[in-house]
Amino acid sequence: MKSADVGSLKTLLSSPQKIVIIPHKNPDGDAIGAALALNFYLQATGHSTIVITPNDYPQFLKWMPGTNDVINFEKQNDTAVKSLETATVIFTVDFNELSRIGHMEEAVKNASATFVMVDHHHSPAAYASIMYSDVTMSSTCEMIFHMIAALGDLELISEDMANCLYAGIVTDTGSFKYASTTGKTHRVVATLIDKGAQNSEIHKNIFDTNTASRLHLLGCALNNMVILPAFRTAYITLSQEELDTHQFKKGDTEGFVNYGLTLEGIRFAVIFIENKEESIIKISFRSEGNFSVNEFARSYFEGGGHTNAAGGKSNKSLEETVHYFRSLLKQHKTSLLA
Ligand code: 5GP
Ligand code: MN
Repeated sequence: MKSADVGSLKTLLSSPQKIVIIPHKNPDGDAIGAALALNFYLQATGHSTIVITPNDYPQFLKWMPGTNDVINFEKQNDTAVKSLETATVIFTVDFNELSRIGHMEEAVKNASATFVMVDHHHSPAAYASIMYSDVTMSSTCEMIFHMIAALGDLELISEDMANCLYAGIVTDTGSFKYASTTGKTHRVVATLIDKGAQNSEIHKNIFDTNTASRLHLLGCALNNMVILPAFRTAYITLSQEELDTHQFKKGDTEGFVNYGLTLEGIRFAVIFIENKEESIIKISFRSEGNFSVNEFARSYFEGGGHTNAAGGKSNKSLEETVHYFRSLLKQHKTSLLA
């Protein structure tokens, strides 16, 4: 974190503030972990705080300490809108453009609070007065740790905070296997375990709480996988009907996209998931190496993210979306095979 920003943040937090903390829509482990840990930290330093999520998040993250106090903008709209109106400071975590919070965007744009961004995605928008943006970071949770360290408050990291931060780091690094995992990440994680993070328990809570219907949905997804060795690409489709047949619940498709990359020689993996309620196809992109799925998602599917993990959407039908996607591969063949 830049020392000027540390100074500005210290000044901002030197008197008690009314703070709202916001993760992105469909929050993942990193977004929720960062929001909850930051919430504990700001409470411990004398502020009045609240976490507001744009919508609900998966059950496999609801073991996290502080979960019960989270406000859902869709379900507790009055409380959420009032908190945004009276907030003096708004922290946005794990996203960097306000379109990433969906229906919450308008209420947040109208807020008169001072905005602080903590995020590790590319191309940050300019809505925050204090911007801690670093694309080299493994996760926003790692950044929250560094931010607390920069503020001189490492000793305030409690067991609850350590559990939240560990969960975010482990999910965003694919259990420490992605290239974004550095020695620094491991040193942070070591400190978190020393501070009480129950690492083995967290892995179990996140990865070993499958339902039978989710595993069957995974079977369906893998059955649907199309492998295009000529483009080193593999993609999966899931229609709304297939989701319904398998009693789909939020979070059930988390991680499915990664299976494409486990095939030898495959560098680009994609999953297309039909969402009839929102009339969109939600797309996740993953890559290995230099092929930037952030640029691909940004150019063709109104999305973005990181070089090796990004998301986007399409308003076309599932069939048309896949057709369009396949038509794009030719012009990227050189970089996919490089
Ligand atoms: P996932 O595929 O797991 O939903 O997301 C992968 C990465 O891309 C995450 O860092 C996520 O924040 C980002 N991402 C997912 N969907 C979108 C999107 O629609 N727009 C942008 N800008 N980023 C996205
Ligand atoms: Mn993240």
